Amino acid sequence: MVEKFDLIIVGAGPGGYPLALRAARNGMKTALIERDEAGGTCLNWGCIPTKALLASAKMFHKMKHASEFGIKAETLSFDWTKIQARKNDIVQKLRTGIIRLLEKAGVTFVRGDARLKSNNHVIVNSATEWQGTAEKICLAVGSVPFVPENYKNDRNVFWSSDEALSAENIPETLLIIGGGVIGLELGQVYAEFGSKVTIVEMMPQILPGLDTATAKRLLPVFKKGGLEIITGQRAENLCKVSDNEVKAEINGTPRSFAKALLAIGRKPNLSVFENSGILPEMKGNFIAVNSDFQTSIPGIYAIGDCVPGPMLAHKASHDAAVLAAKFHGEKKSADYSAIPACVYTFPEIAWVGKSEEQLNSEGIKYKTGRFQFSANGKAMTSGEADGQIKVLASEDQKVLGTVIWGPEASNLLSEATMAMALNIPAHEIPEIIHPHPTLCEAVAEAFENLLGTGVHG
Ligand SMILES: Cc1cc2nc3c(=O)[nH]c(=O)nc-3n(C[C@H](O)[C@H](O)[C@H](O)COP(=O)(O)OP(=O)(O)OC[C@H]3O[C@@H](n4cnc5c(N)ncnc54)[C@H](O)[C@@H]3O)c2cc1C
Repeated sequence: MVEKFDLIIVGAGPGGYPLALRAARNGMKTALIERDEAGGTCLNWGCIPTKALLASAKMFHKMKHASEFGIKAETLSFDWTKIQARKNDIVQKLRTGIIRLLEKAGVTFVRGDARLKSNNHVIVNSATEWQGTAEKICLAVGSVPFVPENYKNDRNVFWSSDEALSAENIPETLLIIGGGVIGLELGQVYAEFGSKVTIVEMMPQILPGLDTATAKRLLPVFKKGGLEIITGQRAENLCKVSDNEVKAEINGTPRSFAKALLAIGRKPNLSVFENSGILPEMKGNFIAVNSDFQTSIPGIYAIGDCVPGPMLAHKASHDAAVLAAKFHGEKKSADYSAIPACVYTFPEIAWVGKSEEQLNSEGIKYKTGRFQFSANGKAMTSGEADGQIKVLASEDQKVLGTVIWGPEASNLLSEATMAMALNIPAHEIPEIIHPHPTLCEAVAEAFENLLGTGVHG
């Protein structure tokens, strides 16, 4: 039997499932197809499992420093199996929540591998074949780790983030190729629990995209935390020696590690097109879309990681909200001018808007305001006084960018993001009463320092 819908969505990640909920609540008869689990990469293999493991690592790290708070915790140990179980439990609970929401909204949730039969017909291979037609099909198919061909069959030693998130043991040594967000977050987890971690990044700095001065400043901080970080170098001739040994040449020196994590990027998951005879116009590896998220194939839309733009969960959800509004007849367009980027290491790192390098290269004049967490009461009392907030604004007070490293950087960034998104001028931010003592006072003080009115700066 072929079921008829208004909208069929392929992929239940942070792009696909919010689109399904919004469309169904707006009265569209909606089907959502997922071959893995509700929540997509973000919930099952990305944002949430990494943050659960990082939370355990951070707790362990803090307990190692308990004596600084006057607390004796002398026989510390950890149970990796329980840490993994906690992570799995959190993921499971959130998944169940999504499925309940889908049921409540009346979304038909189909499990299985979707293939396009035409621009309005989808076939799903599961235990029993399912077929659906719809005037509108949205591909929210996300992305998969990029693992070069010669390492694909040895995922036991050449890990992607998927294997690193579900490993049963902590390897004695771990080579991480790629000093981006995933490499640093997972590197810190493994280093905290005892692995000797070496991160090799071919670019001159870690976290390409982050303001250069901050990236430089953070290198010794991460090194102090136990990570060996080598920038401006490639790991060459990576090969397997045994199930517990890989070799690579770094800076001309042969080195040996128990496992290698390839954190070198992700690529769109295009399996929905396999054997379909349908291939939309592409932009590089990504599905090209216009400002209405329409692909070159009439009736087929695409959002999230599979289309050009930052590969982030909140960007995918923003796409979903805009597309749902468009389907509902509202005049909305995606605005990517203030997309926050966050790294949930300890210390956390977060930035939005333009960096100083970008502003300089674009010839844009700007003022800078800084505030150190070492002058913030709440950061001091929490024992997290390392870090800085840097805000950038134009001569006429338009907030152009912000970079924060330190406690709760990802949460603190929202004030600056809001100022950028809503065009709130720099001088209005410190005029808002910020509670004391809080970390967010530091944001207000950075803006005061930009204006030259700071009392502590
Ligand atoms: C280790 C890691 C950590 C991350 N941490 C963060 C973070 O902290 N913050 C952040 O913003 N982003 C983070 N990301 C990125 C984030 O996970 C993605 O940007 C986000 O999940 C993209 O959402 P999406 O809906 O476009 O695709 P996805 O979440 O990838 O979902 C797509 C879904 O489509 C399904 N699918 C694909 N093809 C088919 C098919 N043919 N049939 C049926 N189903 C199909 C897939 O199984 C998948 O579940 C992280 C990623 C990784 C790997």
